[in-house]
This record gives sequence, structure tokens and C-alpha cells, in this order.
Amino acid sequence: MSTGRKTAIISVYDKTGLLDLAKGLIKHNVRLLASGGTAKMIRESGFEVEDISAITHAPEMLAGRVKTLHPAVHAGILARNLASDEKDLAEQNINKVDYIICNLYPFKDTVAKVNVTIPEAVEEIDIGGVTLIRAAAKNHVRVTILSDPADYPEFLQELEKGEVSERSRKMYALKAFEHTADYDASISDFFRKQYAGDGVQHLALRYGANPHQKPAAAYTKMGNVPFKVLCGSPGYINLLDALNAWPLVKELKAALGHPAAASFKHVSPAGAAIGVPLTADERKVYMVDDIEDLEKSPLAQAYARARGADRMSSFGDMIALSDVVDVPTAKIISKEVSDGVIAPGYEDAALEILKKKKGGKYLVLQMDPEYEPSPQESRTVYGITMTQHRNDVQISPKSFTSIITPKESGPLPESALRDLTVATIALKYTQSNSVCYALNGQVIGLGAGQQSRIHCTRLAGDKADNWWLRFNPRVLGLKWKKGTKRADKSNAIDLLVSGQLPKAGPEREGFESFFDEVPAAFSEQEKEEWLSKLKEVAVSSDAFFPFTDNVYRSARSGAKYIAAPTGSQNDSAVFETAEKLGITFVEQAIRLFHH
Ligand code: 5GP
Repeated sequence: MSTGRKTAIISVYDKTGLLDLAKGLIKHNVRLLASGGTAKMIRESGFEVEDISAITHAPEMLAGRVKTLHPAVHAGILARNLASDEKDLAEQNINKVDYIICNLYPFKDTVAKVNVTIPEAVEEIDIGGVTLIRAAAKNHVRVTILSDPADYPEFLQELEKGEVSERSRKMYALKAFEHTADYDASISDFFRKQYAGDGVQHLALRYGANPHQKPAAAYTKMGNVPFKVLCGSPGYINLLDALNAWPLVKELKAALGHPAAASFKHVSPAGAAIGVPLTADERKVYMVDDIEDLEKSPLAQAYARARGADRMSSFGDMIALSDVVDVPTAKIISKEVSDGVIAPGYEDAALEILKKKKGGKYLVLQMDPEYEPSPQESRTVYGITMTQHRNDVQISPKSFTSIITPKESGPLPESALRDLTVATIALKYTQSNSVCYALNGQVIGLGAGQQSRIHCTRLAGDKADNWWLRFNPRVLGLKWKKGTKRADKSNAIDLLVSGQLPKAGPEREGFESFFDEVPAAFSEQEKEEWLSKLKEVAVSSDAFFPFTDNVYRSARSGAKYIAAPTGSQNDSAVFETAEKLGITFVEQAIRLFHH
């Protein structure tokens, strides 16, 4: 019963460009059908238009909730050019629809209003419009869907030339699918905040990376947020740190079978370690010699190492712990300046200690240890969404079996495998470029976020040197003035071991004020002699060494093992240099850039 005349259904909330469009369609003898408000506007402007009821023979109902939802509309849109579809239409006396022009109720604008109620928002959920758009977009082989008034002029130009091209129908359909997807996303965003916004699926954050970046939130689309906030309120950077630090300790524990800890700052580890027992000197250097029952808690020892590696960088850290937090671990945390902790659980007494920190504002997150993120991850940068497969490669002692030099080398000792594993898993969660030095199951120096690899290697090496100088008997024996604070001690030690101590002036005077007996600066010779005792260090790099300078620099900080991907034009020179310096070079084949 086709008349040969084409039919358009128009149902638009945003009536921009509507009259020009109606005029253009009528010029091409298109039959116009429109929903209430749309028809009214077209009619009042003097153009011929029929109500949808002309084909549905049903009135708009339920105060506008049902306007176009009817088989006469949707069968007309969805019918293909197939004999069986034509037959179905003929039996029901339905005409095909060729053009759908529809845009949706302004859900986003409504819910953006302050104090919007749920019933108000519910009324703005467009049903019929979405159905029109989706049906037309689905059948874009035959039907044209215009969901954006900006497309009307181009559409009319094409109509002028004859017919809407296949290419245009495809692009309009894509836009329509994006339009409904965006619309649905804004509806689920609203209800996520309303119904699961107390940390179940949606977590309001104080602000973004900076205080002026508001609003800010964290949420998941599938399932619940995998952690509970037991104390405090997380900030954006806290979560970036926590969600990088947690997988680090989880993987470290899985790879080495010991409790693990990480101390994060600005989305890179300042330290990471497993619970290797501490020596008396280590207890002193890491400022944990007064912690009761420390030797009974591998987790506390892991955190002492993670926190103690680079006390300057760890100041105000976000901590991740692989195991249920016990009292000795909580006691170390309570003494340090720290922003928060994430762990799979807390003993009651440990939680009590942590809840008292920072006047009750210390951030305590309880992580679901069973949580597995989706393998696909995405982020938006400057309005562009990028997606990638998550870096779920597993690093373990097995990753270090491909020994390049020395050629006659047997398998690496357990301690080297352990330290290379620690260094490499740490790099996996460090902003690139990155190079890490490890010893005794812990990071001792980490160079993060440098554009040049040698600068990472130097930075990490200098940190490893400073770490080792802190074990020098002169530093262990420093005569502090009574009452000197931990942070002041750490700063003063750093000035001393880094060689940054000025000879005179207010900074020097400040330094001296912390001591009963002012220590002398380290002479070059004294430093060199001490550093020559640093041995057996494992160095890992997140990508290949482009030049031999990295090997030379690693050697100066006691490197005995280097693991790195290969593939540089200079590979053979790098390997030869390692061999010459008595360093075992292991190919760790996987590049581990992280951003
Ligand atoms: P009008 O201003 O023409 O009365 O309404 C236009 C709006 O109604 C459009 O935004 C369109 O998406 C929406 N719409 C079309 N059909 C239906 C329906 O059956 N139910 C509801 N709730 N909205 C519809």
C-alpha cells in the first residue's frame, strides 16, 4: 500500500532549525508526522503536518509518557525491504517510515540543577525518543536518523541532489548511537550517585589533582568499588596512589611469597619491599628500633623497609600493605607523616591506632583482595578517550632466566632473583622512564619520571648511595639533641649524606642546631671508600639501556645484576661493558613503561 511518498517522523525537544527542516522536507513532498509540541510549532508556522495519531490511531497518553510508542511507528521504521516485512506491514496497514528526526529530553540539564528531586529526574528520562532513535539507527540501511540539529542543512542539501547517501546514513546512525549511549550514561551516572553514591559504586572526592578541580569522583560501572573507606575521605591523588600501590604489593607477595609493602608519592613508589628480617642497623636507619614485636611481623618489616628506603620521598606517603595490618605495622605508621593506607584488612587494635592519626582524618582503605580489574582500561586526556589492555603481565623470579653475560653463568642466586623481582615489579608501577636499584628484598633507589634513561639511572644510583651512606657508622652514631623530631632527623641526615650541606649560613646553623655534637661533612675519599662496600645490588630498567653510561653508573653503586629489555642498537656494547665490570646482565624481555 506504498504511495511512493516518503514519510518523516519528527519529535524533537530541541527545536532549533525545526522550521527550515520542515520546509525543506515539504519541498520534497515528504509526509510529516510529529509528536505534540513539535507538530504544534510546525503547524503554527503554516506548514502541513499530521499528528502521530494519524497513523497510531491512539492519543498521546500518560501526560506525554506515551507519544510515539506504537507498532505503527516502530514497525514502519524497522521494516526492511524484504518481502516478508512488506507482507507484515501490508497486513497491519502500516507504511514505511524513511526519516526520523529526534532529539531527547534534556536529562543532563535537569539533573545538573541544584536540589533536583528523583521524581523530577525520572520524568526527564526519554523513552519514546530513545526508541525512535535506536530503531532508526538500527535500520540505517534504509532509514535516515537525524539526532543533531547541526546536521539538518547538510541533510537538506543531499535531499536537494536526490537522496541521502549511504555514507551519510551511516554517519548519522553512528552519531545516533553515540547520542543514546551518552544519554544512558548520564542517567546511570545520576542514579549511581543517588542509589550507590555512599562508596558502593560511586565515591565523591574532595577535589581532583588540585583544589580548584571540582567536582571530582571515582566510580565503577560494573559491580562495586572494590574498597571500603574505613576512615578519612580520599582525594584524587590518594586514589591514584592507592590503586597503583595495591597491585604492586599484591603482585610482589604473589611472586615472592612474603608480605609486601609499598610507600607511594605522586603515583610512583618511594619504596617497596618484602618482609625480610631487619638487622639491628636497619632497625636504626629505618627509625623502627623502638617498635615492639617488630621481629614477629614480616608485614611491619616490609613496611619499615619500604618507608625507610628513601625517607625524604616517603614523607606524606600513601601506603599499600599486602596483608591484614597488625599492631607493629600500625605503630610504625602512627609515628610517620603519612596520608593514608590501603590493605586487605586491619586487626581491631591496629585500626584503632590508625583512626587516631591526623586527628581522625587519616585515610584507611580496606581493599577486596579478590578484586580483579577488567583487562581493558581507558582514560580521557584533553577530551580524548584512550583505551588499552591493562599491563597484566606477571613478573616473578622466572622472568630472570635469560642470562646474556657472563655466558658461562649458571642460574642467579635466590637473593638476586628476589631483588630483581622487587625492582622490576616496582618499575611496573612507576612513572616512566624508570630505573630501580634493589637489595635485601627492598628498593634502595628509584629514579622515576625522567625523560632520559641515564638521568633515571643516576637519580636511582644517587638515592642508593644516600641510602647506603645512612648505614655509615658516623651516621648511625649521630649525637642528636634531645627532642629532635623524626622528620628533622631525616632532613638533616639527607643533607649530610647527599653532600648538600652548606659550609656556612642559616641553613648550616639550622642543621647544627639538631646536634649535641655536630658531624663533619663526608669527604670525597671517605664517601668513595664507604660506597665501594656497597655490593650485590640488583638493578632493573623499564626499557633497554641505549648507552653504556647506564651500566657504568650502576656499577658505581654496587650493581652486580642488571635486568633490562634488549633491542638497543648499542646492545652489544652494553653487554660487553657489563661483562667487563663483572655484572651479570639478564634479559627481562618485557618493556614496562607506565603512565
Ligand atoms: P514534543 O515537544 O513533540 O511534544 O516532544 C518531543 C520529545 O518527546 C522528544 O524529545 C522525544 O524524544 C520525546 N518522545 C517521543 N516519543 C515519546 C514517547 O513515546 N514517550 C516519551 N516519554 N517521550 C517521547
